Amino acid sequence: MITALAGGVGAAKFLSGLVKIVSEEELTIIVNTGDDIEFFGLHISPDLDIVAYTLAGIVDEEKGWGIKGDTFHCLDMLRRYGYETWFNLGDRDLATHIHRTALLRSGLKLSQVTKDICKRLGLKVNILPMTDDRFETWIETDAGLMHFQEYLVKRGAKDRVLGVKYMGMENASPAEGVIDSILESDLIIVCPSNPIVSIGTILSVKGVRESLRRSRARKVAISPIVSGAPIKGPADKLMSGLGLEVSAFSVAYLYRDFLDIFVLDQLDEKERERIESLGIKTILTNTIMRALEDKINLAKTVLEASRSI
Ligand code: GDP
Repeated sequence: MITALAGGVGAAKFLSGLVKIVSEEELTIIVNTGDDIEFFGLHISPDLDIVAYTLAGIVDEEKGWGIKGDTFHCLDMLRRYGYETWFNLGDRDLATHIHRTALLRSGLKLSQVTKDICKRLGLKVNILPMTDDRFETWIETDAGLMHFQEYLVKRGAKDRVLGVKYMGMENASPAEGVIDSILESDLIIVCPSNPIVSIGTILSVKGVRESLRRSRARKVAISPIVSGAPIKGPADKLMSGLGLEVSAFSVAYLYRDFLDIFVLDQLDEKERERIESLGIKTILTNTIMRALEDKINLAKTVLEASRSI
């Protein structure tokens, strides 16, 4: 069994390569829900949807999120009615949020709802939210404290980051299956996702970090930072805001207490020695995923590396 820890786009790209070489039934994906937010009374789970839409083959590949060919008529009309419409919700995408919210209101947990959505999208992979409880990532900035989506989408990550707060962390328990899948897997893959607001959130859920340390699985992470910068998204701003160097090394450092192998980009050979000095084995390869072939090759490298120790 394989367990992957995942954020949104970077993770989904990698996972779409992985499912070409391992069977979906073998794979559990634990997904960040710190980005979740409510709009128009609807519960939005951006990372869960990015992963599910990508693996179901319906994602808008150009954007990396949303549904291919979607329209935005509902949002246009809501704008006319005076609502804030900075968070992009396509018409077909809205159906997912309506369905999710209806099931949550009927008393189901987010993990049960996610299972239903995945089944209806034809997926056999086990996608789990990191928690069924309220957990929101808020960013402390020079313009005040705001939800991560407000920082990223509404304000375009323009504010200076002073800190990150995981609201609800103290009371959030891992969703059913999260700890078991970590403890029972042979391989755990930390996807190339934001180390603070995607993987950092998952690691902060009660018991997750400890079970990663205890698990006898081989643990492999793929660097989301290449040549000192993220491929996309605000990882650099968040890392430097927290006083961290923006480098592949910093990411490995954040995972040093449980990680066996760190896959870093071939452009980052100079980081190798520092990372190995943490007691983590390194593998150099191309980690920039453009075509499906890149994703499959990266997945193959991760599997081979995990067998080499
Ligand atoms: P989201 O996709 O913005 O919701 O958030 P993620 O948690 O997935 O974070 C995006 C991270 O994925 C960024 O740090 C990117 O640098 C990284 N990423 C995206 N595409 C790639 C890629 O092709 N290769 C690698 N190595 N990292 C990537």
